[in-house]
Amino acid sequence: MEIVGDEQYRCAGRKFHPEDTVVEVGGVRFGGGSFTLIAGPCAVENEAQICTIAERVKAHGAVMLRGGAFKPRTSPYAFQGMGAAGLELLLKAGNRAGLPIVSEITDAAQLPLFEKVDVLQVGARNMQNFALLKCLGRTDKPILLKRGFSATLEELLLSAEYIMSEGNGRVILCERGIRTFEPCTRGTLDILAVPVLKKLTHLPVIVDPSHAAGAADLVEPMCLAAMAAGADGLLVEVHDEPQNALCDGQQSVTSEAFRRISRKIKLMQTALKQTEGGDA
Ligand code: PEP
Ligand code: MN
Repeated sequence: MEIVGDEQYRCAGRKFHPEDTVVEVGGVRFGGGSFTLIAGPCAVENEAQICTIAERVKAHGAVMLRGGAFKPRTSPYAFQGMGAAGLELLLKAGNRAGLPIVSEITDAAQLPLFEKVDVLQVGARNMQNFALLKCLGRTDKPILLKRGFSATLEELLLSAEYIMSEGNGRVILCERGIRTFEPCTRGTLDILAVPVLKKLTHLPVIVDPSHAAGAADLVEPMCLAAMAAGADGLLVEVHDEPQNALCDGQQSVTSEAFRRISRKIKLMQTALKQTEGGDA
């Protein structure tokens, strides 16, 4: 018998778990009223790059450091990431700056290398890699699950269900833009995904404006829109020499631009809190 409706989201569905889930890791909280800023380069490139960005984004309000070591690139000839050495550098940068780290895992065979990584990211290209999702469901690591470019919200939730039904309830969902007919931007940020997911699931929902926009100057307005839409946080690509970045430089904001974003986010947060308190 085909399972339809609320029944298919027996782990992720709000119907069966009305309270918001808060995912806590390394002193950082996702969900439950926090707004969590994750920042860092698309890819770890060398020690100076990742350590400098880590210090700067921490100073500007990030509470978690991102950096890809295994990069699933469209072309096999593009930079594929530093692999295990990249994870070591990310860890070093995170430790020095006092930031927990998140990095993308592309194959369950990499799991031993991710032992000290706080949050494991499943990228858009792997959202329906069910074998990987099931393996991650048997770990005790929080999973940042990104929406596939052509995945519906129902498919995203069912992918979360693959992880959760194996026993791992610590899933954070991420809207990162979908592929539409619009060629002016890399993707189309589905901002409606935020309130819709919030209705359907108790899991935290964050937004990655960088991959949706594909251009650094479009990142700030999408960050603010994500917060206004009710997201639980942001994942922002930051690089201080974007013209020399090995991956996604065109959409990476500088740490100075990240500082401005972070400041505006704080101001908005204060304003929204006041309205919740009945002042508006
Ligand atoms: C990334 O976060 O760098 C990334 C590859 O994202 P996505 O899987 O959303 O394309
Ligand atoms: Mn990227």
